[in-house]
Amino acid sequence: MDFPEHHAKPLLAAAGLNVPRGGVAADPDAAAARAREIGAAVVVKAQVPAGGRGKAGAVRFADTPEQAAAATGELLGTTVGGFPVAAVLVEERIDIRRELYAAVLDDAASRGPLVLFSTEGGVDIEEVHAATPEKVHRMPLDIRRELSETAARELLEPAGLQPEERRAVAPALVTLHRLYRELDAELVEVNPLALDRRGDVLALDCKLSMDDGARPRHPKLVDQVAPSLPETGTELERRAQKLGLFYIELDGDIGVLANGAGLTMTTMDVISHYGGAPANFLEIGGDAYTRAEPALRLALDNPKVRSLVVNFCGAFARTDVMTAGVVEAIEQLRPEVPIAFSIHGTGEKDAIALVRERLGQEPFDHMDDAVLAAIEAARERATPGG
Ligand code: GDP
Ligand code: MN
Repeated sequence: MDFPEHHAKPLLAAAGLNVPRGGVAADPDAAAARAREIGAAVVVKAQVPAGGRGKAGAVRFADTPEQAAAATGELLGTTVGGFPVAAVLVEERIDIRRELYAAVLDDAASRGPLVLFSTEGGVDIEEVHAATPEKVHRMPLDIRRELSETAARELLEPAGLQPEERRAVAPALVTLHRLYRELDAELVEVNPLALDRRGDVLALDCKLSMDDGARPRHPKLVDQVAPSLPETGTELERRAQKLGLFYIELDGDIGVLANGAGLTMTTMDVISHYGGAPANFLEIGGDAYTRAEPALRLALDNPKVRSLVVNFCGAFARTDVMTAGVVEAIEQLRPEVPIAFSIHGTGEKDAIALVRERLGQEPFDHMDDAVLAAIEAARERATPGG
């Protein structure tokens, strides 16, 4: 989940990083009022989930409330980076001495958090990295550790900052890293991180992205931010997101409910192998295994679904717990679509007994047979009178 700049900045401020005073405006009058509140020269920035606004002319300077209103009028309704501008951020204009770059992000190569810093801020960091990789300083971190101020200063040491600049910037990196941890972020990027004429450090721009799997851990924040995001995915996919489940709606008619992404994809492959078409990807593995019930509801609420395969294979995921959730949901929902079970591994005895006793049906010994039964059932239901 990507936070818009005007949502990200208050979070930075709450964490203890300086940000310019300001607020959003959705029309010229509101922008003028914001500028008047600020009582100084301002910048007016189009709020779109895209970078490169400076270059695109979507970051305007205004010396008076009237100019702020005019800039807002010009920006609203245009498209920037492919997104329509529905609001602007009006902020106190900072007298910048130096534009720096700082980020903390999930790094695949080091399999953990990575802190990035460069004195070449304000411009596209990928370009800086391509032209002068030595100017992008990197520090991979142990995910269990805080970033200490000493470590932050070490990272800054070779960057070519003055000692007093280093003293000012190091705590900002510590704060960024703390925010990254507290928000379960995948990316916190400040570009530019500005040094102003007084030597203060301020975040002038911010990209903040939270791990979607962490949404249930931050319900208030998600409620606050999600409504203002451009909607992506189908209705069911959005519902899944809110539940912290990974669900992708597909074109087929055979619903899939399995534990673990690997087993889910295997089940989908087996369905395709036998000439069927999966209706969804839906994963309830890992920490989501207790959420079998909402997951089943999700799979069944897809109107294209004509049959369903439930395929559980337990190692540390307990098939009896997952099956209990599914059986309860089936008893409540009384779905018309036939459901074929294949259950193996930890807890299978209890799980199979549950299906037998409460649903009066027999799980299949082999996954292939469960899939074939589901394909057959879907075909029968697809043919009128069948
Ligand atoms: P982006 O182009 O979408 O990344 O938008 P930014 O918010 O990063 O702004 C682009 C550029 O505008 C920055 O790199 C600065 O050079 C300039 N800018 C933004 N805010 C201010 C400000 O308060 N004062 C000054 N002097 N320049 C600013
Ligand atoms: Mn920027």
